[in-house]
Amino acid sequence: MISILSGGTGTPKLLQGMVQVLKPEDITVIVNTVENDYFSGVYVAPDVDTVIYTLAEIINEDTWYGVKDDSFITHDRLKEIGCPETLRIGDRDRALKIQKTILMENKTLSQAIDIQRKELGIETLIIPMSDQGSHINIITDAGEMEFHEFLVENQGKPEVFDINYQKVDPAPGVIDSIENSDMVVIGPSNPITSIGPIISTYGVRKALKNAYVVAVSPIVGNQPVSGPAAKFMEANGHEVSSLGVAGIYQDFLDKFIIDLEDENYQEEIEKLISDVMLTETIMRNMTDKINLARCILGENV
Ligand code: GDP
Repeated sequence: MISILSGGTGTPKLLQGMVQVLKPEDITVIVNTVENDYFSGVYVAPDVDTVIYTLAEIINEDTWYGVKDDSFITHDRLKEIGCPETLRIGDRDRALKIQKTILMENKTLSQAIDIQRKELGIETLIIPMSDQGSHINIITDAGEMEFHEFLVENQGKPEVFDINYQKVDPAPGVIDSIENSDMVVIGPSNPITSIGPIISTYGVRKALKNAYVVAVSPIVGNQPVSGPAAKFMEANGHEVSSLGVAGIYQDFLDKFIIDLEDENYQEEIEKLISDVMLTETIMRNMTDKINLARCILGENV
């Protein structure tokens, strides 16, 4: 049994490989929730939804957001009649978001996710990091803004000075899952805005210190494979490199997997984490995803 901490782009790619290598029911995914919010009347849990759609094999892999081949009739009509529609939500995607919103009228987020994943035939357990609402604030040169305001409305352009979010209680099963896992995997996700919030959830850091934890660097060379991780790492005073990521995880990490390109950082990282492994970490196709999953699990590729 393994637990995987996930955001909404890098780690979902890895999950596609993991479910080919391990029995899906032997995996628990613990997902970031600080980007969750209501948009156009529906509850949007971006990373949770991406993990659900990935494991249900309906994810749009061009964007790692929403359902593949979706239509946008409702989105277009809402815009026509003057709704802001900050997010471009497709019709099938919206149906699942509406279902989650209705379920959450008398259930927790955890319970709503569990109902959805079972309906979609997903055997892997998916747990949100918390059932409590929490928000991420980005302090920028254009003022303080919420995550989607920064990333969608301002296209991630403002200069970032700081990032903060509330510390919340873990959802039921989060600590148990970490404690009962043979291995906890921190996927290649944004260390500040995806993994950071999960780790800061009450009790998680302590549980990680007692677990066997393996992480994959989301940074190759001096830039993220995708997304705004560089700006966030710099704002928090970290070098944008696998060495910078190692510094963030060093107090609980047992093994760190970095890209072959980052051999120049190996020696410095080994001063922080004794077990460092180099491999191809960019996941372009299913073979890459399966190879990385095997590497994490310690199997020969
Ligand atoms: P978000 O919730 O959409 O921000 O997604 P995540 O936090 O899960 O993932 C974003 C991070 O994944 C970025 O920092 C990327 O650099 C990293 N990433 C995306 N694809 C890959 C990949 O194929 N390999 C590696 N090593 N990192 C990746």
